[in-house]
Amino acid sequence: MEDVVRDTLLTYKKSMNLACSCDRCLDDIMALALNDLPPSYVVNNAYSPYVRAQHQADRQGATNIITIIAKSAAKVSGSPRCEAYAQTKQHN
Ligand SMILES: [Zn+2]
Repeated sequence: MEDVVRDTLLTYKKSMNLACSCDRCLDDIMALALNDLPPSYVVNNAYSPYVRAQHQADRQGATNIITIIAKSAAKVSGSPRCEAYAQTKQHN
């Protein structure tokens, strides 16, 4: 499941207007998204690449996962906790 979230995040991060896209922030976004995803989704996806592929092909599932990741990305972008972003802010 983490792989699915990571793949989706990496695919869509450019269109999510992240305030910062360093590894720390991506990890934060992933952690938030994994918390928000329905448990059945996680369980279904954790063990079988085949089930995973089905979910990726499933429009509703794909929409849900992207929506959840986008929400998580918005939260993290609102207040990035990483040093890279803190330094950017100081320079501004
Ligand atoms: Zn960052």
